[in-house]
Amino acid sequence: MNLTQKLPIFPTDSQIRVLWDLSEKCRLLYNFALAERIENWKRNKNKPKEEPTYINYAKQQNDLPNIKKKYPEYKWVYSKVLQMTLRKLDANYKSFKALWNNGDKKARLPRFKSKKYFTTLCFNQSGFKLEDSTISFSHKHPSREILSFKLPRELIPKENIKQVEIFLDSLKHWFISITYEIEKPKYDDTGFYQAFDLGVSQTAGVNIYGRFVTFKHRRSDLYWKKKLEQVHSKRDHCKKNSKKWYLYNYKFNKIKRKQANQLKDYQHWLSKQIVENTKANTIIIGKLEVKKMAKKKKGTGNARKTKSRKTLNHSIHNSGFMSRFAEFLTYKAEKIGKRVIRIGEDKTTKACCKCGKLSKRAIYERVINCECGNQIDRDLNSAINIMVKFLKLKELGEFEFLSHEPSVDEERFLQKWDGFLRHTANPAEKVGVDS
Ligand SMILES: [Zn+2]
Repeated sequence: MNLTQKLPIFPTDSQIRVLWDLSEKCRLLYNFALAERIENWKRNKNKPKEEPTYINYAKQQNDLPNIKKKYPEYKWVYSKVLQMTLRKLDANYKSFKALWNNGDKKARLPRFKSKKYFTTLCFNQSGFKLEDSTISFSHKHPSREILSFKLPRELIPKENIKQVEIFLDSLKHWFISITYEIEKPKYDDTGFYQAFDLGVSQTAGVNIYGRFVTFKHRRSDLYWKKKLEQVHSKRDHCKKNSKKWYLYNYKFNKIKRKQANQLKDYQHWLSKQIVENTKANTIIIGKLEVKKMAKKKKGTGNARKTKSRKTLNHSIHNSGFMSRFAEFLTYKAEKIGKRVIRIGEDKTTKACCKCGKLSKRAIYERVINCECGNQIDRDLNSAINIMVKFLKLKELGEFEFLSHEPSVDEERFLQKWDGFLRHTANPAEKVGVDS
């Protein structure tokens, strides 16, 4: 499996000048190649299916030697870096075309790169050398400046490094990101399962023995929101693009960055806790479709409803980024030979875990009070439903890699939340131990 490590670097002024020069060549190449593709696409898009001749990556790569002959400055850049720039364009263009061919006529062509932003330099397989804790990069810039940077020793990946990228973030901090490959430990289905509901205010879990665990989240987004609003309003009281405006704008972005980093750190920490502390080898989570939920932003006419929806959207975006969290969980689990399974989440919040009755619940209802007498934390209820759903799917043979036979624990779990058994046609047979 591939992992990525991001590390800060501190180039000198003359190194920065070289980096920008190299970036500029990549940017121009990207834009030329993009222009060529767009023109080609416009010429071809209305032709019958057999006729068009689309430009592809291979063609553009084969053009590189001629470009270098004509414009020798392109030789400054390590040749693989230029190729990776074209690869990047190829990927962007392909994702546009996939959308378009899928019938999305609103899909937008990839954009041209602006001079304002640093074009990431991607060294794939070669062109970089890591010695001790110093990394150096190849180039043929006339200045002959040496591009080597000291890295924090303890953070350098030891395994086989595949790719190194140099980039500049929006706060003008320089970074490299190292992609390296590690061997995935073998996964073993031990029959110990743990289900989690990834919520906004907490992450709640239940294991196959019916034991609960919850992690309360700090809602730091409320704290940051206030800070952001203060700077925002200060900025908007200044003349746009004035010196002061830029100052506040910079501050604004800085706070935003801090907030994002804090959340990311927390997600790293929490996913690590979850993955390393559970005895389960298999973690099941809901497949939260963040995009779908956040899209319902349009008002419904009902002012209060709209507002609560907006707050939910807000929470999902800020405290959420649940899909990223799920990704953290997944790779951290894989790293130590565990697995994360995502299953569809429909009805897991609406259904009561005891009787299965569906009812709509407002987001502020933290505890479920069902007619059947079941009273349980909303997120735990979801976690149980996720587990039940998983066990049912497992029995249907949905997960081919799971080797464990249905166990006594699974049966016990299902019986404890027996409501669901009533919904299956033949409950006794369905969860039989020795079938
Ligand atoms: Zn109920």
